[in-house]
This record gives sequence, structure tokens and C-alpha cells, in this order.
Amino acid sequence: MIGPRERVPQAGRRGTRMAEHTGPGRSAVVIGGGLAGMLAVTALRGHFDVVTVVERDRYPADRTFRKGVPQARHLHILLSGGQRALERLLPGTVAALTEAGARRLYLPRDLLTRTPTGWQRRFDERRHPTLSVTRPVLDAVVRERALGAAAGPATRVEVLEATEAVGLTGDARRVTGVTVRARNGDRGAASRVLPADLVVDASGRGSRTPQWYAELGREAPQEVTVDSGLAYATRMYRPTARGEAPDAGVNVPGWPECPRGAAYVPVEDGNWLLTLSGVRGHHPPTDEAEFTAFSATIGDPYVHELLARAEPVSPVHGFRDTCNRRRHYERPGGVPDGFLVLGDANCTFNPVYGQGMSVAALGAVALRDTLDAAGGPGPGVLARAQRAVGRAAEPAWIAAVGADRPYVRGGGAKAGLGERLTTWYLDRLTARAAVDRVVGAAFRDVFCLTAPPSRLMAPRVVLRTVLLPRRPGLPRPPTAVEPA
Ligand SMILES: Cc1cc2nc3c(=O)[nH]c(=O)nc-3n(C[C@H](O)[C@H](O)[C@H](O)COP(=O)(O)OP(=O)(O)OC[C@H]3O[C@@H](n4cnc5c(N)ncnc54)[C@H](O)[C@@H]3O)c2cc1C
Repeated sequence: MIGPRERVPQAGRRGTRMAEHTGPGRSAVVIGGGLAGMLAVTALRGHFDVVTVVERDRYPADRTFRKGVPQARHLHILLSGGQRALERLLPGTVAALTEAGARRLYLPRDLLTRTPTGWQRRFDERRHPTLSVTRPVLDAVVRERALGAAAGPATRVEVLEATEAVGLTGDARRVTGVTVRARNGDRGAASRVLPADLVVDASGRGSRTPQWYAELGREAPQEVTVDSGLAYATRMYRPTARGEAPDAGVNVPGWPECPRGAAYVPVEDGNWLLTLSGVRGHHPPTDEAEFTAFSATIGDPYVHELLARAEPVSPVHGFRDTCNRRRHYERPGGVPDGFLVLGDANCTFNPVYGQGMSVAALGAVALRDTLDAAGGPGPGVLARAQRAVGRAAEPAWIAAVGADRPYVRGGGAKAGLGERLTTWYLDRLTARAAVDRVVGAAFRDVFCLTAPPSRLMAPRVVLRTVLLPRRPGLPRPPTAVEPA
């Protein structure tokens, strides 16, 4: 069970708690009650009298998969940068996740990583605790806490489950509400309008805002896609006997000469998730026997060897739409008045870098900080908040598209000089980071979204990256932990 029933609405229209209204009667509607939607609720708390979440699914009574978040079958890690943001929004959530079984993996100690030049050294650095947990558990814990916290004195939160947003109301200049329809299997279900002073699109990677813009007579937002053609296939395992589980997760990302990868990590309940990945021409199969065979063809045999000590406890699930896609709502004129876009609806990333949830949390922090600083959603404040959300996505975007460039075929956006330099430098830096404490620490700071990309240009990082000769990594996955 997720927790106290009254805090997690299960069906239809429920309020988390009625409360005394203290503000001028402002209302907001959040489209999508997933991760970004729940964090949006948290960010809006205290600035709106009523926040209504419109979610097309019904939330399951237990912490199980639901259709509206199809990527939830796959391995999800929450980077330290995302955890910090989550803690700022909902203090105590990281501890609640750990209590729910999330595994804390310190990088690089608890995630053995194979690079093109060999295995990364296992420094006991402990600056970046990464959380590894199945997505249904993560979403349920965040939802419970967001709805519980939102029941404060100034904001009433309602969740409309099994309700789909089908359009925006207003005009090209201003959004005034959302058209919704019940999803009860009745094809002829009538639609109705929820008026709102603010509409937040947190509907994820399938966001229909570009089409809705067209219906309002607005141009679509500027969009950039960088597609490595990566596909995922994931299966859950359980070590066959006590003491058979490895003492660390394993990550063998693909590289241009061997574009097949695997990540094998512990999650709650003693289970492990194995995600296999590959770019075009190397997509991992979803047939069970072929899936196991594919695991033997990645850049190192270690993961395949580990599977001999585990039994599968789920079918194989595939996922193909993994491109980096950014819609530039933060640019001048990118959003009409009364409208804001957050989470994957704003920017999606190649999942192999594990950034999307963290960026959703960082975006929600940016929204909340902007509202707090302005004392509420006055004139111009939401456009400012959207710019802050855009800035929060920028470091992850630069890192992901820079690292993906070698895989991108023609048709994607043309790489600028900055991106090409980033790709060249990141390639050298990644190799160095595997063996070098200083460069490795800077690399992790940036990739875990706790430091800006400029950290990679710190003089001693640049000097070590550019001037020191390339050294291979370790020949076998390290068992010994080295001091930081
Ligand atoms: C295969 C894969 C693996 C990933 N691995 C990682 C990882 O390791 N680490 C990481 O940080 N990120 C990872 N991500 C990214 C992560 O899944 C997303 O960044 C995250 O889910 C974004 O949250 P969101 O709330 O914006 O969207 P979602 O979680 O997709 O939620 C969207 C919600 O909106 C609802 N909805 C959609 N349309 C409507 C509508 N019209 N009306 C009402 N409700 C609607 C949906 O039902 C859903 O509840 C991965 C992504 C993929 C594809």
C-alpha cells in the first residue's frame, strides 16, 4: 500500500484536505499527475488557492505499474542532483524512498563501470549517492508526500483521476483553462472546461502542447531533436541464492565501436533490473532467449556471467522512443500568459544518462524559487519562471547531446562548434575520469547535476584531461575499493 488512503486519491474527484483560503482566489490546473506534475503541485503550494491535477490514469492501489508511464518498466536511477532538488521541494523524501527499499549506490564505488578503455577504478568517494528503485515505488512515494504536503493551510489540491486533458482554452495570447474528458471507456463522454489562472503542462514525453498551440492560433515552439536511435529492453532478476548477488551494480554503456550496452542494478525487495540497450541496427530483442543471448554481445562479458547466478522474475519489456527532444518554451514569446511547461513535456533526454527525473525536480525548484522571489504569479513572473525552468534543463541537455553526437545520423539538428568541441573534450575526459580521482570527481559532479558544466573546464581538470597521456582502465571489474 502507498500509505494513508486520504492522502492518495484513488478515484474520481477527491480533495486532499479542505482548507481556509487566504489568497485572492487563484486557481491552477496541472496536466499530468506523474513525477513532474506532483512536483509542480509542491512548487505552486501557497501561491494558488486551488490546484487541480488532471491525470488520465487511475492510480493503482499498490505500487504497481500503470499505463500512463510506459517507461516505468525500465531501470531508473535518481542522481544526487535530483535528490537535492527533491529534498528542497519535499524534505524527507530521500529517506522515505530508502525506507521503501530504494538502494543507495555511491558513485563510483557501488556502480562498476566499463568504459571503452577498461573498467573504472572504484574510488570510495561518497559525494554522489545515487538512488536505484523501481519507478512505480518512486512515483508512489513522491505522490504520497506531495499530496500530503500540499494539504497545507493555503492551498487545496484536487486530483481528477481517469480524466484526460484534450485541449487548452483561451487564445494565442492567453491560456484561460483546460478542456478535459472523463476516461471511463465511454467514447461519447462529454468534455468540460476547467478555468484556471495558470495551466502547467506536466504530461510527459507525449505532451500535445504543440498541437494545442496550433488550435489557439499560436506557432509551435521551436524544437530541437538529437536522436541516437537507442532502444531499451529490460527484465527483472533475483539472485538465485543468498550471497549470490554482486556487491555493486554494473554499467557497461555502449560506445561507437560497440554500440550495445547493459546496466544491472539492485532495486527494492532483493530484485535486480537488467536493462540492455543498443543503437540502430543493435536494438536489444524482447524475446526472452534472444535477450539473454544479446547480453553476451555487449562490450564486456561480466553482466552475462552474473546472469548465471540469477533467475528472471519478469517478462522482457522494450522501449524505443529515447531521443533528446527540447522544446524551447523558455525563449521570448515561448509561452502565452497563464501557461507553463515542466518535466518531459519541456525536455526529454536519452535515458542512458539517467537525467530526466532530476531535471524535472530541478525545474520544479526553479518554478518555486521564482514564485517565492516574486511573491506570487504577478505580471511577467510565469515567463520568468519558464526561463528558469529552461536554464535548469540546460546542463543536462548539453551533456546528453554532446555525448550522443557520435551516434546521430543526418537529419538531426546541425552541431554547432560548441557541441562538437564538447563531444571531443568529453571523449577524452571520460577516458581520463575512469582512472583519475580529480577528473573523475569533476565528471561526476557535472553528470550528477550538482555542478555546472564549467566545472569540467577548471584549469586542473583541463590540464589533466588534455596533457596527460591516455591511460587504459582496469582489465577486470574491480573487487577492491580504493580510498578517495
Ligand atoms: C526507458 C527510459 C528510462 C529512463 N531512465 C531514467 C533514469 O534512469 N533516470 C532519470 O532521471 N530519468 C529517466 N528517464 C526519464 C524519466 O522517465 C522522465 O524524465 C520522467 O518520467 C519525467 O516525468 P514527467 O512527470 O514529466 O512525465 P511522466 O512521468 O511520463 O508522467 C506524465 C504523466 O502525465 C499523464 N498524462 C499524459 N498525458 C495526459 C493528458 N493528456 N491528460 C492527463 N494526464 C496525462 C500520464 O498518465 C503520466 O501520469 C527514463 C526515460 C525512459 C524513456
